Amino acid sequence: MPDSPKEEIRLKGVAASPGIAQAPAFIFLRREFDVPKYLLDPSAVDSELERFYGAMVETRRQIQEIRTDIANNLGEDEARIFDAHLLVLEDVALIEETQKELRETRFNIEYCFHKVAQRYIAFFDNIDDEYLRERVNDIRDVTRRMLFNLLGHTDYGISRMSRMVAGRILVTKDLSPSDAAGLEAGSLKGIATDSGGMTSHTVIMARSLNVPAVVGLHKASEVIQEGDTLLIDGYEGLVIVNPSDDTLYQYGEFNLRKKNYLEQLQKEAVLPSVTLDGKTIPLLVNIEGVRDLEHVTSLTIDGVGLFRTEGVFLRDNQIVSEEAQFDEYRRVVDSLQPRITTFRTFDLGGDKMLPNGLISPREKNPFMGLRAIRYCLRFPDAFRNQLRAVLRASHFGPTKMMYPMISGVGEIIEANRILDEVKASLDQEGIPYDRDMPIGSMIEIPSAAATIDLIGEHCSFVSIGTNDLIQYLLAVDRVNDMISDLYEPCHPAVLRTIAYIVEQAHKRGIKVSVCGEMAGDPIYAPLLIGLGVDELSVAPSLVPTIKYLIRHISSAEVSKLAQKALRMSHPGDTFHMLKQFKIGVFKSLIDA
Ligand code: PEP
Ligand code: MG
Repeated sequence: MPDSPKEEIRLKGVAASPGIAQAPAFIFLRREFDVPKYLLDPSAVDSELERFYGAMVETRRQIQEIRTDIANNLGEDEARIFDAHLLVLEDVALIEETQKELRETRFNIEYCFHKVAQRYIAFFDNIDDEYLRERVNDIRDVTRRMLFNLLGHTDYGISRMSRMVAGRILVTKDLSPSDAAGLEAGSLKGIATDSGGMTSHTVIMARSLNVPAVVGLHKASEVIQEGDTLLIDGYEGLVIVNPSDDTLYQYGEFNLRKKNYLEQLQKEAVLPSVTLDGKTIPLLVNIEGVRDLEHVTSLTIDGVGLFRTEGVFLRDNQIVSEEAQFDEYRRVVDSLQPRITTFRTFDLGGDKMLPNGLISPREKNPFMGLRAIRYCLRFPDAFRNQLRAVLRASHFGPTKMMYPMISGVGEIIEANRILDEVKASLDQEGIPYDRDMPIGSMIEIPSAAATIDLIGEHCSFVSIGTNDLIQYLLAVDRVNDMISDLYEPCHPAVLRTIAYIVEQAHKRGIKVSVCGEMAGDPIYAPLLIGLGVDELSVAPSLVPTIKYLIRHISSAEVSKLAQKALRMSHPGDTFHMLKQFKIGVFKSLIDA
């Protein structure tokens, strides 16, 4: 008898990156997961030990394979970490203690192995020695891999994810930015995560990879089985597991209409970014590296408004050398010129951690901690290196540079002082750079917004990072899906703050750009333009939509819209009004 079709299950999450895709699931469980615990029959002890040895052989095989891959592609030095993993796996004490635990307690092998490994981890973790603490990461990694193999999951390993996820939808509890950085555009079909809010960096990366993403699905990684067919709807925030024929038909129809709609958007994307009443609103893009420029036709944009340079570091999982940075920065500048490249000095920390404690992983509140410019000013060596690389790249085309997470004027003064030192050393070495490269500040901390007049005296442009500004203004963690309903871009406090920044900056002749995710959302972009924002910087995939929007609004009408929004008390009402406005703008396109 043929298998009866599996039942369709619908999982609702937060729509994070637009698009629809259908593909098999690839489950990636990286975090700690539930380890089953059950008592064995005495006769099963030997076969349980066989399972343990079998998993060890498989784990060793996997580690050796990755080692060879890495040695061939990146070199022997990088591959050595996997020698350390092999040593952990072959540790006699770990093996013997696990065998003993199994014989004494008769609990299943996953449970026994996990328990012994946790004891090791706790022991090393408490030793005040950087080298030994490092070993804890090795033990964790090997333990997870062993458990994966014991539990019958198919594979594990960030460095091989790209290959594994080719043609599939990645399902995971949580994807760290460095995991996401290992993914290649073009192969992956979509991303579904249990956790995460709308502006987490995973989401930002999904947008830059141009794949549909749904986050905040809570139990997707448990409900979905490896190889299940998934339909991911990044517009509605829906993941449909084993979709029925009916569902597939409906989505097929929808995709067809969507295709026509996108074709029309593309036609206008190469036209100037000017409103109906003639106001130019430069439209730029947010990138994390040169590869993001592959997804955007330079004819459609006015440059890069936010180069998240930490993306280069996250991809390599380390602070990258000056030379390697320069190489990547120069390639961006070269491929964009005569359009502008806006570098943002690296913003590591928060949810963008490097492994191995390069940025302290031990903070209780990393979003409030040693992040971005704070780290740079505390440990200026890496900062100096980056400034050298940016300045050197500035010689090859128009560039600007801005500092992230500025909380007050003192940090800009200090950062500029270091910049002057770096310039002096380049002068001494006779290395050319653009002496007039404009320096700006991100405005993403409420204290910077409140002191915009003072900040304005030390920089020539500002860019509002609404992702963080909203998080800090409303005290709502941007990556916590449990409170994503409280993350309200239409909150009166957000609107008033943006209006204040624009008013104060304009008084001093300083231009204001927005590079947070609000800029790329067709619901909020008209509001921002109405509030007087001068330019928008958005994910490359959103350029056609926002370009169309700019070309089909008048600055006078959105200014009235913004004034009305500023008088409203309830974010829900404001959102509704903005949504209606958006529907009005796109109506003719959808009807066509
Ligand atoms: C922001 O905070 O809005 C921003 C653009 O910076 P990031 O998302 O990289 O923190
Ligand atoms: Mg930010």
